Amino acid sequence: MLLSTSEKVDAIVVGGGIFGCAVAYYYTRDNPGKKIVVLERNEICNAATSRAAALVTRIRSKKDFIPLSLETYRAVAEMEKQLHESMDMKRVGVLHVAASEATVADLDNLMRIADSFNEPAEYLTHETVKTKVPWLKTDEALKFGFMPNESYCDPYLLGIFFARCAKMNGADIRQGVEVKGLLMEGNAAIGVSTAAGNIYANAVVIAAGAWSPVLAMQAGVGLPMAPVRSQYWITERNAIFPVDSPIVLLPDAQAYARPEGGGLLFGIRETKSFTSSPLDIPKDIIDFSFSPDRGVSDLSEVIDKLGRFFPLVYDIGLKYYIAGFSGYTPDNNLSMGIVPGVSNLFAATGCAGAGISVSGGVGLAFAEMISGKPNPYDFTNFKIDRFGKIDPFSKEWLDKCALARSQKRSG
Ligand SMILES: Cc1cc2nc3c(=O)[nH]c(=O)nc-3n(C[C@H](O)[C@H](O)[C@H](O)COP(=O)(O)OP(=O)(O)OC[C@H]3O[C@@H](n4cnc5c(N)ncnc54)[C@H](O)[C@@H]3O)c2cc1C
Repeated sequence: MLLSTSEKVDAIVVGGGIFGCAVAYYYTRDNPGKKIVVLERNEICNAATSRAAALVTRIRSKKDFIPLSLETYRAVAEMEKQLHESMDMKRVGVLHVAASEATVADLDNLMRIADSFNEPAEYLTHETVKTKVPWLKTDEALKFGFMPNESYCDPYLLGIFFARCAKMNGADIRQGVEVKGLLMEGNAAIGVSTAAGNIYANAVVIAAGAWSPVLAMQAGVGLPMAPVRSQYWITERNAIFPVDSPIVLLPDAQAYARPEGGGLLFGIRETKSFTSSPLDIPKDIIDFSFSPDRGVSDLSEVIDKLGRFFPLVYDIGLKYYIAGFSGYTPDNNLSMGIVPGVSNLFAATGCAGAGISVSGGVGLAFAEMISGKPNPYDFTNFKIDRFGKIDPFSKEWLDKCALARSQKRSG
């Protein structure tokens, strides 16, 4: 469709990943008749979103994330009703494995957090865990905590559910439309430019994933996040991986795992996480080589940490390798909200590797803010200016963000 150069809408979202689609979903749900357009230069939900391991974690030590994730579960139930289709969330629960005094203390704290959110959580014995998770070498652990409501999902499907419901409610989702630049009037964002013309709006939301700092810089803002690679493997099938066994978090190995199609999907935090300047990532990451050896050298470096709990890792065949960029920050918090010093500009960015989990709350928060209403959540710890003035393209900044991911212990 050709755009008119004087097109005017209420809100523009740049980027059709899960964040952009979730914003459009809530905005159209709560503002019937208002016009929102989502501009995606490739296909929707095909960058980070489709690559996620998609643990939809409800309870975590970063308490500010929890209400956002709980909203994701509410959205799933609501969208299933709207579409008369199931999302087939895999409610298998999560098993937290603590194998050192420090992680036992972290687990005890997490169990208290679960309790404070009225989320079921119980300690399990070694015997129970052996039957639930046959691949796990349980004698390494000191304590196990189990939270039965935790789930994983198909991340592409979740993103597409947001998009389909938004479209049914009136959102205009355009694929193959690249935003070339922000249109500014003084200190205010007034729209975006595309190859087909300019679009003007009262609010512009940057939800461009790994590429977001490039757009924010056009408004003179150094967005505090960096694209940092996450990677995981899926093993060949084996009866030792029951499809209904829980997600397993292994902070002492800085690893996580979950069942996938009769095999095991597992991810690690490598010693040096790979990062790239947002300026250097191709527009379509299908063309990007995340690792020439499919992550094998990174895995080799940390394999003994994982082998303590998953001895079969040394022998089992690895069938698939998946990698992608998430927006990491030095404190592993999200980086989002109203862009300081620029009117009408918002950034739903810096997902900290948790964007699938928090997508519901993020979508609702931005739909409210761009409608001129208060943010229903506390974003104090996510503030865009919390690191002061930063250069998101400098090596020093990129390394800081990559280090934060390498040191991450939680799921
Ligand atoms: C390997 C891996 C495992 C993960 N595991 C989990 C997990 O278990 N749980 C979890 O919650 N999260 C996980 N994540 C993180 C999750 O995938 C991300 O947080 C989430 O997908 C971010 O969504 P997004 O919309 O911000 O970005 P994206 O999905 O990357 O979407 C951004 C979109 O913006 C578009 N865009 C960029 N620039 C422009 C432009 N100028 N004009 C138009 N369009 C533009 C891009 O084409 C892209 O489609 C994982 C990520 C990876 C890579």
